[in-house]
Amino acid sequence: MEIKKVGVVGAGTMGSGIAQIAAQIGCQVVMRDIESSFVDRGIAGIEKFLSKGIEKGKLDSVEKDKILGRITGTTDMSMLEDVDLAIEVVIEDLALKKKVFKELDDLCRSEVIIASNTSSMSITEIAAATKRPDKVCGMHFFNPVPLMKLVEIIRGHETSDETVDSATGLARKMGKITVEVKKDSPGFIVNRIMIPHMLEAIKIVEEGIATIEDVDTAVKNGLNYPMGPFELMDLTGIDIAYFVTEYFYKELNKESKWVSPNLLKTMIRAGKLGRKTGGGWYDFGNR
Ligand code: NAD
Repeated sequence: MEIKKVGVVGAGTMGSGIAQIAAQIGCQVVMRDIESSFVDRGIAGIEKFLSKGIEKGKLDSVEKDKILGRITGTTDMSMLEDVDLAIEVVIEDLALKKKVFKELDDLCRSEVIIASNTSSMSITEIAAATKRPDKVCGMHFFNPVPLMKLVEIIRGHETSDETVDSATGLARKMGKITVEVKKDSPGFIVNRIMIPHMLEAIKIVEEGIATIEDVDTAVKNGLNYPMGPFELMDLTGIDIAYFVTEYFYKELNKESKWVSPNLLKTMIRAGKLGRKTGGGWYDFGNR
């Protein structure tokens, strides 16, 4: 089935990015959030990104208007009734994701693929909330979606080859590089590698070995990474790093290496969540 209309559930950082790139390849997009102010914020983010693209000479205002014209923002889930593929992009909460999958399963045609952008959670468990587990997979985009090249395509236990092929085809059409995660395992590839390095960075600061700035400087210049772990957490969300760590601890045999450092918990308790809202590691500093 050709994917002409995409449903995106969640208009936050990732959902708005996914809506944008789906519209950029000519798809009609319905982007749903729970409050109209969240929908408006998502659309405003896309508008801002495209306007910057005009300044850089990457597109013109006619193209920008066409892209925005393909995106319908709504709080009404039933608007996703006739989509050809739906992507769930709500916060990293398993119960919420299952609820959204059940709603989408009841709403969408039986042949429609429903994908999750989860950073870490079991596709098999999310798929079990539906009557179409063969048509459920992970499509893990990275932040910022329009710029980051990778999409992990994740198989749940029942995911069919056709579902993997369709999701891979769509991601490639969006200009992305895909990798297949053959077994449903917490954190897939990238986050299974990324979270330990973030936790070690936090422990280094907690133990007074080095400052936040110096850890980032060391990683950028010693490992040639484009961003340090603290800068990256401030961009992607300290809450997401925490949720994923807690999920790893629960799912990966409660090994001590996945225990959240106290400093990470303090950031969560203080509401310092990064993402340019409410402060982050660089605002909290080296107290
Ligand atoms: P976000 O908090 O920016 O956005 C989540 C949005 O979902 C919010 O606007 C919220 O109102 C909305 N929402 C909650 N319940 C909803 C419902 N029932 N229907 C529709 N919308 C609902 O979060 P985000 O950073 O965009 O992350 C979303 C998902 O993507 C998470 O699973 C996260 O782990 C994953 N992810 C995030 C990043 C990142 O760097 N932020 C990267 C890759 C994957």
